[in-house]
Amino acid sequence: MPNMQNEKTPMPFQDPAIRSKNFEEVALGYTHEMAINEAQRCLNCKNKPCVEGCPVHVHIPDFIQALANDDVDGALHEIKLTNNFPSICGRVCPQESQCEAKCVRGIKGEAVAIGRLERYVAEHGQTKTEDIKSNGIKVGIIGSGPAGLSCANDCAKAGFDVTIFEALHATGGVLSYGIPEFRLPKAIVKKEIESLKNYNVKIETNMIIGRTVTFDDLWQQGYKALFIGTGAGLPNFMNIPNENAVGVVSANEYLTRCNLMKAYDDRYDTPIAKPQHTIVVGGGNVAMDAARCARRLGDKVTLVYRRSLEEMPARKEEIEHAMEEGIEFKLLTNPIAISKDETGSVNGMSCVAMQLGEPDEKGRRGVTVIEGSEFDIPCDYVIMAIGTSSNPLLKDAEKSLEVNKRGCFVVNEDQMTSVQSVYAGGDAVSGAATVILAMGAGKKAAESICKELL
Ligand code: FAD
Ligand code: SF4
Repeated sequence: MPNMQNEKTPMPFQDPAIRSKNFEEVALGYTHEMAINEAQRCLNCKNKPCVEGCPVHVHIPDFIQALANDDVDGALHEIKLTNNFPSICGRVCPQESQCEAKCVRGIKGEAVAIGRLERYVAEHGQTKTEDIKSNGIKVGIIGSGPAGLSCANDCAKAGFDVTIFEALHATGGVLSYGIPEFRLPKAIVKKEIESLKNYNVKIETNMIIGRTVTFDDLWQQGYKALFIGTGAGLPNFMNIPNENAVGVVSANEYLTRCNLMKAYDDRYDTPIAKPQHTIVVGGGNVAMDAARCARRLGDKVTLVYRRSLEEMPARKEEIEHAMEEGIEFKLLTNPIAISKDETGSVNGMSCVAMQLGEPDEKGRRGVTVIEGSEFDIPCDYVIMAIGTSSNPLLKDAEKSLEVNKRGCFVVNEDQMTSVQSVYAGGDAVSGAATVILAMGAGKKAAESICKELL
């Protein structure tokens, strides 16, 4: 008999008053008892709507049934058939708009907490080590974000001799430099990356493909296929007056200092501002992460977003957590200028009030300025989190790679670019998207590489 409790089994969280001043993980994870209780809420529906909602079609009811029967290893095996890194996805996927949005239990109550269960299984299950027969064929992976890691994982398991090339000194892409410790502990990312070494995946950091080494160099070194997973890390700005004032930064720079360079940790000497009033502009996950880091490092934080709460693209849980942590939300508000003092440092932001219009063809409501609504907000720091574009370096260096007008690599249905044996996926192809879509693209490219080379 399923457990007919209408609400999700609550997740234990760190208290907001305490966590808003530390970088330890906010969501503490289910206990065994909680996980079994939640797993028993699943109805094991015949037509599996939740699976349709998952971009990589994780066998959701199968893993949940295994867990409900206390077979945690079996549950992990089911998940890993389609998702290489469930400990990451269980924490950062926007489940409420994917699998959980389709869950039948959501009709009369709350959906099954699929993400929380995935995290539990990833943390407590064991996988068997697999015997891999090496084929000696060299595959190069450019970028160590979720797309590159996922492609590397599947290529290595297929027997290829895989090397990941990463431009930064550290691996993981956004998982390491963007998403903060309190949402995705770096020890988890590290463990997943270390596990690739069991499949003999080699990693070369500080290696900018297109600059340190070119495609021609790689072909000459005997690589037979390449995968581009270089992400979309170039920050966008608003182009409003004084955006170059001292104390206006991109979320990318801010989060990289904070997370990758550990500015929050006194043992590191990475400089970072500790302002009295930070304004973060944007409404996505990046804005939420920047605001929550600024709250932990500084004092007052205001988030300025031009639409309403309903249109915010960030994960629902992150929005709730940001509010609980005391971040003020200034909605339907758009910056029009930044002001600076005589030293060139930011001292305020001028904004206008916005109103929602009719939905466009995608159902997203437009916004228009309310005439005469200008007002100023004093502040001493501004973080711009209004989206990113793809990094131009590789496309400029390798001219035969076709890109679209947004600068993203163009691929066919096998993830192959305009260059034979060069595949691409993740944000570098789609523009800024999600971890699971990047992982799915890496997986698909690995399948195509197998098809081409084996
Ligand atoms: P990336 O993760 O960007 O990795 C690309 C890697 O390639 C980087 O390490 C980069 O240094 C390297 N690289 C670039 N150029 C070169 C080169 N020429 N040579 C060698 N290496 C190169 N998604 C979610 O699903 N849930 C979330 O909660 C979420 N939160 C986010 C929070 C933040 C702050 C940010 C920035 C993004 C967030 N996202 C989230 C989006 C998600 O992280 C990305 O969609 C995902 O990381 C894309 O993966 P990727 O592998 O394509 O690229
Ligand atoms: Fe279980 Fe919900 Fe999927 Fe049905 S839709 S199988 S209840 S997780």
